[in-house]
This record gives sequence, C-alpha cells and structure tokens, in this order.
Amino acid sequence: MKTFVVPGDWRSWVPVAPESHFPIQNLPYGIFSTRDGRPARVGVAIGEFILDTGLLHDAGLLDGPDVFSADTLNPLMSLGRGAWTALRQRLAELLRDSEPVLRDDERLRARVLVPMADATLHMPVHIGAFVDFYSSEQHASNVGRMFRDPERPLLPNWKHLPVGYNGRASSVVGSGTDVIRPCGQTVTSNEGPPSFGPSRQLDFELEVGFFTGADNPLGDTVAEDQVDDFVFGLVLVNDWSARDVQRWEYAPLGPFLAKSFATSISPWVVPVDALLPFRVPGPEQDPTPLPHLQTALPWHFDVQLEVAIQTDRATKPQRVCRTNFRHMYWSLAQQLLHQASNGTNVQVGDLYASGTISGPDPDSYGSMLELAWRGERPIAIEETGETRVFIHDGDRVLMSGWAQGAGFRVGFGELCNRVAPARVR
Ligand code: MN
Repeated sequence: MKTFVVPGDWRSWVPVAPESHFPIQNLPYGIFSTRDGRPARVGVAIGEFILDTGLLHDAGLLDGPDVFSADTLNPLMSLGRGAWTALRQRLAELLRDSEPVLRDDERLRARVLVPMADATLHMPVHIGAFVDFYSSEQHASNVGRMFRDPERPLLPNWKHLPVGYNGRASSVVGSGTDVIRPCGQTVTSNEGPPSFGPSRQLDFELEVGFFTGADNPLGDTVAEDQVDDFVFGLVLVNDWSARDVQRWEYAPLGPFLAKSFATSISPWVVPVDALLPFRVPGPEQDPTPLPHLQTALPWHFDVQLEVAIQTDRATKPQRVCRTNFRHMYWSLAQQLLHQASNGTNVQVGDLYASGTISGPDPDSYGSMLELAWRGERPIAIEETGETRVFIHDGDRVLMSGWAQGAGFRVGFGELCNRVAPARVR
C-alpha cells in the first residue's frame, strides 16, 4: 500500500467538532513548542489538541528513528513514502475511538495531548528551494487583460507549460510573522524615471503549495508514478507582492524584489493522503499537453479557500474572496513533472506554490489587484466604512482552506500575517 486514506467513518476518542479542520481524517504535521522550556518538536493536530509525537516515540508507541524531536519536518520527510504511510496509519489507529492503548492511559494521554491554545507553532520545514507557478487560467487571463492585450490575455506558451520562476526560499515565513512593507523602485509612467520608497501597492496572492519529501539527483527526471513518492504535503501560501515594484522591475526576467521580501505559509502540513478523497478532474486541457506533462490520474483537489482582511480599526475580519483549489489549470503533478523535466534536482523541503488561485466570479479572485480590479472597484470594509484597493499598514490578511467530507473537514487551519510599516532610512 503506497498511500493511506483514513476511512471517512472513523472517529477519534479526542473530541473533534464537525467544523474543526483537524479530524482523524487529516492528521497534519507541524512544529510546536510550549512554555515548558522543551525545544520545538514535531506534533500532529487533532481537534483542539496537538499530539506530541516525540513523547509517543519515547513511550514506545511509534517505531523507527526519532525524527520527532527535530525542530523541522525534514528528517521525517527524508524517511520516504513507505515510512510516511506507515506512520500515518499508526497515528490514525492510536487516535481511533475503538483503540484503548492511548485512550485508556490517562497519565500518558495527559502528557502527549497538548492544548493548541497553549502552544506556539513554528515554521514546519527548512525550505531549500521555493518555486512559484502561475497556473490559474483565470488569474493569468485577468492580469493579461489588465496589463497587456484584452483580446489575447495569455502568452503563447501558457497552455503548453506551467509557467513559473525560482523564488526566494529564505524569506518564507510562518503565520503570525509581521510582513514588513518593502521599499523599491516605482514609476508613475511606464518609461520612468523611477523613484525609491515604500511600496504603495502591497498585495496578497492566495495560493496552495506542496512540499517535496524526496531527493532526485541532477540529471534525473520525475515520472507520474513517482509523484506519490515526492509529494509529502500541502500548505496555504500567501505570495506577498508589491505590484508597483513588480510592474517596473519584471521585464524581461520576471519578479525579483517585488516578491522576495516575504512569502508566508500556514503552520500545518496536510499530508497529500488526507486530500486524496477530494481528488477531482481538472479542466479540459486544449491543446493537449506534450506527453511528459500528461497524467492519467487527476491531481486537482476540491479545497474551498477564503481570504479575509482585518484592518487596524476593525474588530473582526471581513471575507473578501471565496474560491476553490480545483480551479487550477495545471495540476501539482504537472508542475512537479515540468520542474523536473530538465533534470534539475528536487530535494526534501522544496516548496512549490500553485500561483494565485482565481475562480470565474469576481469575488473568487485571489489577489487585491483582481478583486479591486487595479483600483477601479475598491472593496468596502463594512464595519469601519474604510475602503481597500491594496493592503495598508496594520491590516491583517487571513487565509483559510478546507475540503468538506461527510461530517468532517480536512483543513489547513489559518494563515494570518499583519503588515508592518516600511523601515525607511
Ligand atoms: Mn504568486
């Protein structure tokens, strides 16, 4: 058995509300610490608790090397697909309501189940490489329509390969980290001249990313039947973007400083196995991709996604976008096949982000650039009477996502970052 899907009718002895993102069908991995002074370590989310896998291993309830005391998921990921599947199955069995080993051991249970409210979540993965794609047809068309040719918004390559660029891995941060408004060159006319200062068009991009958990040496490619071995799990990604900087700097090599100041990811890495029951066919691809980008299995997923903004003056977030991961044109498998098709190396801890996920409706667009349509349709913040075209200092951007099962949700939790003022010298 390569993958392990927790049956939909399994329930845990840990109480899990129907709207919780962390039922027994999910079991996402994260890195957490508590105020007890012990170092950050690997945990698994279940309901409103974190299962301390290091203590479970110490108690003899988990096999294999102790990858659980590490402060990143990389050692666990490095064990490979067989170990991921076995661990996932073991965790599900230990947490299942019919399994007494942990359920009935009150002392051990009290030690290994940490209330999420008492824990701090850390960056889950040491990221060696970060690639960002551009794989939503609606997003690419919206941007092409705004800035290039309304009649032919997509460039000729777009439907033949998943367009992407190599991003900056070292500035990927976690939920809760402030995003500092970047400074950069901006222009008032396309011809320049530029001036230097804080970006006035700071934007979010709603994306879903996947982590690879296997290595591929230089020269080797990846085949479709290896995708399971490479894809460890998924997170929400906010690809923060300074639109005014981007517009001036991007020609002809693509984004550089407009995006490298920060990218944020959600704290829990949802195993790809948890999303397999939510596989859906992608859109029909016309023209048919070249053979090395064709996949027999669907690698699209029905995951509902939301973005909300909470301004400094507001007491609660306001939803500004509702969309779905299934709207992607290129699937994550096609992105991985494409990435590896030239023989570049894939490594444990690489992050591949989908590109902004926009749906067909105006409230399903995954960036402020599109939601407010380049400033023409400001978004009203109902609670405070403010409006937003881009993101202001003090605003919080919240992203959330989940797949809806029968009586449970397989979710990503929340990704939230506040924007701090630029550091102008
Ligand atoms: Mn992006």
